[in-house]
Amino acid sequence: MEELEYAEEGRTELSQLGEFALIDRITQGFAPRSKSTIKGIGDDCAVIGNSRQKLLLTTDTMAEGVNFDMMYTPLKHLGYKAVARSLSNVAAMNGRPLQILVSIAVSNRYSVEAIEQIYEGVRRCCDRYDVDLVGGDTTSSRSGLVITVTTVGMAEEEKLTYRSGAHLHDLICCTGDLGSAYAGLLVLEREKVTFKADPTFQPDLDGYDYVLERYLKPEPRLDIINRLRENEIVPTSMIDVSDGLASELLHICKESNCGCDIYEERLPIDYQTTRVCSEMSNNMLPISNALNGGEDYELLFTIAQSDYEKTKTIEGVHIIGHITEAASKARLITPQNTAIDLVAQGWVAKDDK
Ligand code: ADP
Ligand code: MG
Repeated sequence: MEELEYAEEGRTELSQLGEFALIDRITQGFAPRSKSTIKGIGDDCAVIGNSRQKLLLTTDTMAEGVNFDMMYTPLKHLGYKAVARSLSNVAAMNGRPLQILVSIAVSNRYSVEAIEQIYEGVRRCCDRYDVDLVGGDTTSSRSGLVITVTTVGMAEEEKLTYRSGAHLHDLICCTGDLGSAYAGLLVLEREKVTFKADPTFQPDLDGYDYVLERYLKPEPRLDIINRLRENEIVPTSMIDVSDGLASELLHICKESNCGCDIYEERLPIDYQTTRVCSEMSNNMLPISNALNGGEDYELLFTIAQSDYEKTKTIEGVHIIGHITEAASKARLITPQNTAIDLVAQGWVAKDDK
């Protein structure tokens, strides 16, 4: 009993730290030992190898009830998405994904056919992005399903893009549109609530196809990596948008020791996303959704100003702002020219700029 009390005294709740502080804390004291560890913890992939071609490694887990809800996640889509999110991290390093390993933990609630469906999704994503499934692990779970995808990729040393390379006056670019995946999740959650109240209810998802696809079946932007290559553009820094634009911008600013200004009217938001926001009872703002929604798997990158002419011709790339001094922090500039400090969740208003 005494022992237990002692243990409880030194106890820190996970909720006190949050994800990023937890990773920082548990990875303290693991400084790379090997000469071939070029980049360890802290970017979208680890970078390994002594030759000009570097190996990229990344791993991502999806847990039932946390990262997906079985009530509205088709199994094929789950398999596809688990692979897509992992490949997206290789794209974020300006690399090419080559192989994946897939590990699953399944409870007996799942049939063999159900697991086959997941693997049909895995196969489709492998086919689409030309990657090989080369291994994995299978184990049982007492509750729910967990799927982990590890990806191996490659990039030439001079093409690698880290979160840390942004320079003062670089232009900030993002691909596709933002907030649509979260809008898709909001629609699915709304239908789930209605269905729970009345199991005879048939969800009507007409007109939401785009946002639903964005949430259920995201695509890694390897097409953009190819366009950048063709145009001989190497971004100065890059990250993929998994947690939301605000959070990713803060990562780039922290790692590159800089600030940034992004312009509200330049953020790409699809009309379906705006419509979903207006339907929500809490009157969600599309801009808040774009900044904090997450799971878009778009690319956020910076380029030298000299690459502006080449970059602006690439379809699907939007220039949303520029890099500033560290002291001016990461800010959103509204159409009224008010500067708002970005925080990882939501934002805090401050004086005009
Ligand atoms: P991303 O959103 O790009 O997948 P994360 O925020 O999950 O990246 O992780 C940030 C960094 O921390 C990455 O370099 C990742 O490899 C590392 N990391 C995350 N969790 C752990 C862990 N449990 N142990 C060691 N490294 C970790
Ligand atoms: Mg990432």
